[in-house]
Amino acid sequence: MKITMLGTGAALPDPDRAQSSILVTLDNGKNYLFDCGEGSTRQMVRANINPADVGWVFISHLHYDHVCGLPFFVLSSWVFNREGRLQVFGPRGTQDFVDHSFENGAYRVDIQARAAYGVRQKNIEAVRPAVTEVAPGLIYQDEDVKIFVDLVEHIPSEITDCFGIRLEAEGKVVAFSGDTAPCEAMVRLAKDADLLIHECTFPESFLAHRAKSGVGTYSHTSPLELGKIATRANVRALVGTHFGHFDSTSPVIKRAAGNHLPIELMGPDLMEEVVRDLRKNYAGPLRLAHDLMRIDL
Ligand SMILES: [Zn+2]
Repeated sequence: MKITMLGTGAALPDPDRAQSSILVTLDNGKNYLFDCGEGSTRQMVRANINPADVGWVFISHLHYDHVCGLPFFVLSSWVFNREGRLQVFGPRGTQDFVDHSFENGAYRVDIQARAAYGVRQKNIEAVRPAVTEVAPGLIYQDEDVKIFVDLVEHIPSEITDCFGIRLEAEGKVVAFSGDTAPCEAMVRLAKDADLLIHECTFPESFLAHRAKSGVGTYSHTSPLELGKIATRANVRALVGTHFGHFDSTSPVIKRAAGNHLPIELMGPDLMEEVVRDLRKNYAGPLRLAHDLMRIDL
């Protein structure tokens, strides 16, 4: 299989990183999408994948940096002649999100206007995604893949569930964290995985600063903690992703985020700190994700 890191950033608009999105392409050509933050669809096209050829989307949680690209993905793949309904899997609240996005929601006028053309009416099912709200366990299987989720620790559970994901396909295992604090569920989901793709939102120096400034960061995983998780799960390879803009050189991000990020520390050099701290607890193959990075498994 081929894994394409479509988006590797976090919640801010970042000139160098789209928001969270990972595309898994099996050797038989089937495409499974994991999260759909801003920029996902454009990145797909840059990676030479037609969004209309992606049949399944799995949403780890409903923070906007993981889901705000979904309406554009659905609408543009309609225009790209998607056949049939997209299958969307996500936590409770996903149905509501979809219901409020399309024919009965935000894009009602647009869909009504475009559907006046026969060619668009013909595949109108493309804007009617079939949603399955899921609970921990096996959530999807077909002849090629099995997908499991478990609860991770990110948004308080009284608001919504957040999932980590385990995909089994072609005799391989890939685990994806979504967003989470270090948690046992990710160690279980990633157990003996060929690849763990795990968030690594802030380096230790950022966390120290944020702890002092009183902005909570308890819902993410630092490089030191991530190294421990990868080692305990006995993964064969680790990819860090969902970087919280700490490596950015953007003057806009620096100006806009100065109230909650230590902008004087920001810059590409911090990636060296990330690797150094990851290496304190993990010795295996390691890559830090960038947009459109390709991994062949
Ligand atoms: Zn996120």
